[in-house]
Amino acid sequence: MAGPGSEQPIIVQKFGGTSVDGPQRIRNVVKHILAARQRGYRVVVVVSAPGDMTDDLLAQARELNPDPNRRELDVLLSTGEQISIALVAMALEAAGQPALSLTGLQAGIYTDGVHGKARILRVDPERVLEGLDEGRVVVVAGFQGVDPEQDITTLGRGGSDLTAVALAAALNAEACEIFTDVDGVYTADPRIVPNARRLDAITHAEMLELASLGAQVMQARSIEYAMRLGVDLRVRSSLVDGPGTWIRRDAYVDHIPVVTGVTCDRKTAKITVIDMPDRPGAAWELFSAVADRQVNVDLIIQSASRNGTVDLTFTVPEDEFAAAREAAEAAARSLGASGISTDTNIAKVSVVGAGMMNTPGVAARIFGALGQAGINIDLIGCSEIKVSCVVAREKAEAAVRVLHDAFNLGEEAAG
Ligand code: ADP
Ligand code: ASP
Ligand code: MG
Repeated sequence: MAGPGSEQPIIVQKFGGTSVDGPQRIRNVVKHILAARQRGYRVVVVVSAPGDMTDDLLAQARELNPDPNRRELDVLLSTGEQISIALVAMALEAAGQPALSLTGLQAGIYTDGVHGKARILRVDPERVLEGLDEGRVVVVAGFQGVDPEQDITTLGRGGSDLTAVALAAALNAEACEIFTDVDGVYTADPRIVPNARRLDAITHAEMLELASLGAQVMQARSIEYAMRLGVDLRVRSSLVDGPGTWIRRDAYVDHIPVVTGVTCDRKTAKITVIDMPDRPGAAWELFSAVADRQVNVDLIIQSASRNGTVDLTFTVPEDEFAAAREAAEAAARSLGASGISTDTNIAKVSVVGAGMMNTPGVAARIFGALGQAGINIDLIGCSEIKVSCVVAREKAEAAVRVLHDAFNLGEEAAG
């Protein structure tokens, strides 16, 4: 039976690690929740582990075992979020607001069994709705779910964003707010580009590119999910008031910006298979071997053919590099290539913008700006709404600043 407040709209509010780091910050979270209650919402809260706890737990695991069992790692990493739900629920009760904490399992977050980056298969929010019907604020542990074996899984780094989006979709929430330590999505990481500008709104497609290409502010998969299920999001600061940034389909009313933002990904690595036979099926053999090890390949570049051979270079996420190297070595041997070379000292710098596809000259401007700054481009990759360049890792931040300037994305200097 639906309870007394069941006609009230639902809001999902997600609070990241910094926002729940210590009692002071948790009390501040309570204020945001109570404000939403006062505006007439039933509130579902999703929280991350406090501060750097996930990193600390990961470091502890690696100290005891450099290659920990993925299932056990998920058991460990999911504990951080469990601390946060209990503390936030207690703080709410202390403020007179009945609350209920739920783990991923209790909140009905059902995933596949790929530990460390599980995909959500289904959300069954029955207990969440029961809690809401009892007039409680329901506080759900982000980043975790349960697989068909009833084992705990985690949803990939930054996965609390995904929990929030999935619950917002399953509950048909009116709003989904992502509270973090910046007051919105910026034209570049404000830690790298001090005059970066807050965006009022951005499309899911652009946010997905920015997030996949290194902008940590939202988890890429959560945006993919939000895009698919039509969930609009608002990113805002838990510490300062402000309008934040809307991530939504109709982000632009009359004018589509050519370039929206610049980002970089330092966690990438490069593998080249040297003198690979230039024949049909060779690339298939190489990339099937790589795919068999669950590695996601990013940029792929093949050299011109000479003497019946080519060099084939591709990039992979740094944490999948060891597996990719093994696969490439084995494929190179079986294909009769001369061998492989690798480079982990690289970074990928990307320029993203929805208007890029209809504007000539964007790539030229990028290459010109980097060239003038003496930054060498190693590999290039393009899609309709982005251009990515691989550069030396120590040049990555400089490259972001150069490109941010080249497209005049910054805040005008005061005075
Ligand atoms: P949370 O713990 O709240 O999930 P994260 O650390 O995951 O927060 O993400 C917030 C951080 O993302 C910011 O502190 C900022 O440095 C970084 N960031 C990277 N790119 C951007 C961007 N384009 N706009 C805003 N923040 C960004
Ligand atoms: N605590 C997890 C992480 O650090 C999930 C999250 O913060 O969203 O990746
Ligand atoms: Mg995050």
